Amino acid sequence: MKQTIKLHDKFFNYYLGKEKIDLAIQSLVQQVHDDLGDEIPVFIGILNGSFMFVADFIREYPSDCEVTFVKLASYEGTKSTGVVNELVGLSEDLTDRTVVILEDIIDTGNTLVKIYEIFDKLPIKQLRLATLFFKPEVFKKALPIDYIGISIPDRFIVGYGLDYDGLGRNLKDIYELKTNRMKNIVLFGPPGAGKGTQANILKDTYKLIHISTGDIFRDNIKNNTELGIIAKRFMDKGDLVPDSITIEMLKDVVNKHRTAKGFIFDGFPRTTSQAEALDKFLAEKGEQINGMVALEVPQDLLVARILERGKTSGRPDDQKEKKIRNRFNEYHTKTEILKDYYQAQNKYFGINGVGTIEEITQRLKEVFDKF
Ligand code: AMP
Repeated sequence: MKQTIKLHDKFFNYYLGKEKIDLAIQSLVQQVHDDLGDEIPVFIGILNGSFMFVADFIREYPSDCEVTFVKLASYEGTKSTGVVNELVGLSEDLTDRTVVILEDIIDTGNTLVKIYEIFDKLPIKQLRLATLFFKPEVFKKALPIDYIGISIPDRFIVGYGLDYDGLGRNLKDIYELKTNRMKNIVLFGPPGAGKGTQANILKDTYKLIHISTGDIFRDNIKNNTELGIIAKRFMDKGDLVPDSITIEMLKDVVNKHRTAKGFIFDGFPRTTSQAEALDKFLAEKGEQINGMVALEVPQDLLVARILERGKTSGRPDDQKEKKIRNRFNEYHTKTEILKDYYQAQNKYFGINGVGTIEEITQRLKEVFDKF
């Protein structure tokens, strides 16, 4: 399953999976069958969007039934008749039959009005209507919907038969149109990979807030705050600051930027529990990490880079090879596994971190643009 997909010019995020759809269909089938008993209904799918739903629905239906499909076509009539709606493809005799319309989605209900108008004129026994998806927030019509599969907020969705301008019908799962949500990116890589340098450039390009936990700790140490005094004990040795302290600090900083368009997290998360805390924290805000973008650089290059940086950075942890080695040890034992964490969510993007600053920025931008 892909987290984000692109159809034409738009991006869509994973919204809900086939398992949920299957459960909803089982429940719909059960309700319809309980109501109709041994009667042989005629199920009518409204094309195009309902074809997958109808196929799965009738596969589950436990007793005899008939199925057919129609398409609703609108054309301009005469001046007096205005727009005329017509069902295309209905050749069955429905006299005295129980008809169950199967719709993929009902939002405003405009299509539903037309369906009712047309079926009201036919000599059927009764009309029922089942829809897989329903948007209660936008449905304004006083018309009955007998069976509802899944109610969703007013979001534009594709997949499982539903399309965006012709595409997306083949997707097994449902995806929602990405609107102006935050862009939250974890910039990842071992110490010295160039995360800080790149984040400083990218934050301006994408108007994001750059949060470097290392920088925040260093500021606190400089200002001799309580947090700084604690953090220093760990940082000077090249050890990680404990999760509980780091996570709380991170949340505080994020919460201070209420109108941010998004964040570049640099140096956070560094442990699985930090990553889990971040996901939970963002989910509570209706946000998420869009991706982890990792600068991949061979380690021998990095030690040399850090020692070089240590000549001017003034950072105690940049100066002794022993401390630097310990930072790599922390990275390999606690942090590197986060690659798997984000990969499992299809959110890992590895970038070659060897090259000029400009070259690497360019590579990063290609990934950032996808979010
Ligand atoms: P950095 O500037 O990202 O290389 O971080 C420098 C040091 O700050 C690290 O070696 C840790 O001691 C501490 N630190 C920064 N971020 C974290 C974090 N997310 N979790 C624990 N310690 C951190």
